[in-house]
Amino acid sequence: MKPEEENFLRRAVDQAAKARATGDAPFGSLLVGPNGDVLAEDRNTVLTDNDISAHPELKLARWAARELDAETAAGTTLYTSCEPCGMCAGALARSGVGRVVFALSNAQLAELKPGGGFPAVPSEGPSSLEEARAVIAGYYS
Ligand SMILES: [Zn+2]
Repeated sequence: MKPEEENFLRRAVDQAAKARATGDAPFGSLLVGPNGDVLAEDRNTVLTDNDISAHPELKLARWAARELDAETAAGTTLYTSCEPCGMCAGALARSGVGRVVFALSNAQLAELKPGGGFPAVPSEGPSSLEEARAVIAGYYS
């Protein structure tokens, strides 16, 4: 990893420390543009915002999708203090962000967070409801 990338990770960790200092879970991220400029940065605010989706990676994925054209987004790198969770990884995949660099892996996080993770919600389907197909048919073609 290049020294400037380690500096971006340190800045993401600084955001994580700010989150912890305000009572939130200690996670932070920043989005760096193709020219190495920090375009946006944020931290976890799940508790202070009372919002289960207020992870910094998700907030920056939403920002990138909203504020950047596709070409610029593809040239960005998200630096984050910890590997994105499943929710954030899904949002990042949809956002057009080009790359993710993380400091701590989810396996390393699990060592620090005993009993972490969330059980899958029981799901059933597909059903035989034809209306569900009809409402989508033709939309994407
Ligand atoms: Zn997340």
